Amino acid sequence: MVPRRLAHHFRTTGHLARSIIGDEEKDESPMRVAFLGPPGAGKTTHARELAREWSVPYVATGDMLREAVAADTPLGSEAKGYMDSGELVPDEAIIRLVADRLGRPDAARGFVLEGVPRTIAQAQALDRFLEALGQSLEHVVNVDVSEPELLRRLTARRVCGACGTTLDASSPPQRTGVCDSCGGQLYQREDDREQTVRKRLDVYGRQTRPLLDYYRGRGLLDTVSGEGPIETVRHTIRERAGIPRR
Ligand SMILES: [Zn+2]
Repeated sequence: MVPRRLAHHFRTTGHLARSIIGDEEKDESPMRVAFLGPPGAGKTTHARELAREWSVPYVATGDMLREAVAADTPLGSEAKGYMDSGELVPDEAIIRLVADRLGRPDAARGFVLEGVPRTIAQAQALDRFLEALGQSLEHVVNVDVSEPELLRRLTARRVCGACGTTLDASSPPQRTGVCDSCGGQLYQREDDREQTVRKRLDVYGRQTRPLLDYYRGRGLLDTVSGEGPIETVRHTIRERAGIPRR
């Protein structure tokens, strides 16, 4: 057993060591936020914008995977194999990718995660990884939009067959079926047809429900309505995420 005075000494020096080491990157207000939400909820727009505002890296697995593939890194070519055959990239590879990104110096004061974690295994691995860095996730924003509204948004998307411009629900063309920029004909991608959209939403719901429970149980989950004007939604997220929860 450690004598009381010695135990006190350890505690004090521990605090001291932390306050010296932590001086440079003192956690004034670490912004370690993850965004969850179905396709069409607008979470990418919000996550990207708020990361910029908070001056922390925006970390999206989709982007990172595409970069790794383009740069032909070992992980990239591994991931490409899965993506080409239409399979999901395994948790383990995703975690390595994210851990590598979050371990870089610019992520020391925080980050905004989007598209990850997608499974409980990923969430647990993320927790362990952050813990090893002496960090933790501060906030999980769940951007919530009703299914009819998601269907409306996702099926409204049109692509120009001539110039490739994408028009979504928030930027409808002046003339139905005609591209504003080049006059080309607009079409609906297979992915955006109602049947396919319903299926995507279904998969998302099944996959994500356990994650929502996981973060709710840890007191990190904050569900924000993603309906209404973009600025109002962003203001709500900003206000709630700005309050340190410790
Ligand atoms: Zn066009």
